[in-house]
Amino acid sequence: MAVKKFRIRITADECKGCGRCLTVCPKKLISRGRELNIQGYYAAVVENPEGCIGCGSCFYQCPEPGAITIFEEE
Ligand code: SF4
Ligand code: SF4
Repeated sequence: MAVKKFRIRITADECKGCGRCLTVCPKKLISRGRELNIQGYYAAVVENPEGCIGCGSCFYQCPEPGAITIFEEE
């Protein structure tokens, strides 16, 4: 049976920099970026997106509907 693989993407300009996703990720994949986005926030960034296990915690905690996308890879 194939092992499912997941990947996370954060759309920086949709992020409000609240930090919720940083605290809930069990793999500690997300950190605060060092550059201001178009809205003037330090957007979250993913250092190692292929380490995502697809738990969805970051997605469900994020108050911004367009900021986080989780993909299941083929
Ligand atoms: S889906 Fe889970 S493992 Fe993947 S980045 Fe979000 S919180 Fe971390
Ligand atoms: S939870 Fe959403 S809005 Fe908050 S820092 Fe993470 S991606 Fe940005």
